[in-house]
Amino acid sequence: METTKKPIYAKCPTCGKSVAWITENKWRPFCTERCKLIDLGEWLSENHRIPGKEGRPFSVEESEDFQA
Ligand SMILES: [Zn+2]
Repeated sequence: METTKKPIYAKCPTCGKSVAWITENKWRPFCTERCKLIDLGEWLSENHRIPGKEGRPFSVEESEDFQA
């Protein structure tokens, strides 16, 4: 058995910073609580759009230039 226990690093989805994937890091895969909240906020806002779906998202203002 090898004893090389290197921590796994993941990239923070918000800022792209390397985050150690350890139990102590309770914000993983985010680096900080702030990044987690930012990502949550973007997900809940109009950034979470499903292309091809005709239903209106919460914000319709940006879809004006979507007319082909
Ligand atoms: Zn981050």
